[in-house]
Amino acid sequence: MEGNATPYGVTDGFGYGPGEDAMGFTEEERALWYKARTQEERSALLRHRDERRAREHQDQERQAWPETRPGQLLKQLGECFQAYRACVEQDPLLQEKALEFDAMNQKIFNRMKITIERANTAPRCRYEKANGATCRAPRVRGKKFCHMHLMLEEARPEKIKLPNLADANGIHGAIAQGAQAVVDGKLDYKQASILGYYLQLALSNVGRVDFEEEQESFVGDEQ
Ligand SMILES: [Zn+2]
Repeated sequence: MEGNATPYGVTDGFGYGPGEDAMGFTEEERALWYKARTQEERSALLRHRDERRAREHQDQERQAWPETRPGQLLKQLGECFQAYRACVEQDPLLQEKALEFDAMNQKIFNRMKITIERANTAPRCRYEKANGATCRAPRVRGKKFCHMHLMLEEARPEKIKLPNLADANGIHGAIAQGAQAVVDGKLDYKQASILGYYLQLALSNVGRVDFEEEQESFVGDEQ
């Protein structure tokens, strides 16, 4: 807070913009400052001022960036990289020559190219969206999904394990579990309707299907 007589002065080191007073306030902010009665109001106003100044400072920097030396170099770097990559693609022998004549820069180019290609071919998220398309955002290392879909998956309600529906007891247990799941919000409306439908089906089929026989013939087929 050097050079500032007031404890509320600016400390961001951005200097003072046109129309700002010694506290960094605009005319409008100054008027509000006089009206502020509580410490909270003053703090809010100071926060507002600091955020505005930070925003304006960034805007200024953004506008000035293309004229700065780093800004110009970065732009040249991008343009050069693309132009040189096009040369190499047209003449595959060029790389070997360049490695002979200017190894250092050719190696820098190679490293940039590999990094970009690696980013482009990174494993993609396998999450299937509602419209059937796959997400394709870069995957989290060692996982099947991207950050967002990993979070979504983890937030999903845990699976419900139904009892065997072969007899009336099992079906009754499943109905109780299904009802509990609806109450707990583990099933949405559509899932609950489908489960209800299958349980009805199971109930109307119980006693009519001979599971023992079917299972035996199934095992026999497999072996
Ligand atoms: Zn994803």
